[in-house]
Amino acid sequence: MRVIQPRIQSTGVIVKSPGEIEVMRQAGKVVAQTVRALLAAVRSGMTTAELDAIAEATIRGAGATPSFKGYRGFPASICTSLNEQVVHGIPGRRVIKDGDIVSLDVGAIVDGFHGDSAVTVCIGHVTPQAKALVDAGEASLNAGIRMMRAGNRMGDVSWAAQQAAESQGFSVVREYVGHGIGRQLHEEPAVPNFGAPGRGLLLQPGMVLAIEPMVNAGTWATKVLDDGWTVVTQDGSWSSHWEHTVAILESGPEILTAR
Ligand code: MG
Ligand code: MG
Repeated sequence: MRVIQPRIQSTGVIVKSPGEIEVMRQAGKVVAQTVRALLAAVRSGMTTAELDAIAEATIRGAGATPSFKGYRGFPASICTSLNEQVVHGIPGRRVIKDGDIVSLDVGAIVDGFHGDSAVTVCIGHVTPQAKALVDAGEASLNAGIRMMRAGNRMGDVSWAAQQAAESQGFSVVREYVGHGIGRQLHEEPAVPNFGAPGRGLLLQPGMVLAIEPMVNAGTWATKVLDDGWTVVTQDGSWSSHWEHTVAILESGPEILTAR
């Protein structure tokens, strides 16, 4: 077997070959299928552990492996983060209620490559403010993706994501950012959701990035709960989280985790 060394830039960014991106498409499809299954199932009255079980069954049923289970000791297959929880919530006995917003973050490995995607869902009758927060998170994600083109710089992506959230009166989290993705769940480079246009890493074809804005109703500051995982807003305001795994191709961005 011929072993092809990954091309690693001086920045530590691993540029993927077309063959590697094709495998990542398969990982992205499993993640998208799992998110669809969760969106179809999630309702008030169920526990976050039930969602985790659905996700794990879907991922393993597709012949893939959950990215998060056991990652640095994380005990579940997905992250479920409700209301003031920003990211990394651990599924468990908590019952989802009408009016909650729930972030569902899913990762899967196919043939050694990861896919990673998150959505935030409104459960039943949420407040108009909560709905606006969820929509701003999705708008921030999409604004960032639109700038993920060869020849642009990371700051163009970051700035677009930031503007989409802040223009709606919300803030973007600073302490957690998106990331390169491939054989590792988290690779170089960092993909911040705040920054200055025209600055930072030059984007090139073959880069695969997980962009994941976390948008808060209050200030951007966060803290970690005593479980060592769950990130919450410092001020208790609610937060929405959206993510896609995106390949930068000559033709533009391709969302590998598109539903
Ligand atoms: Mg994720
Ligand atoms: Mg991620």
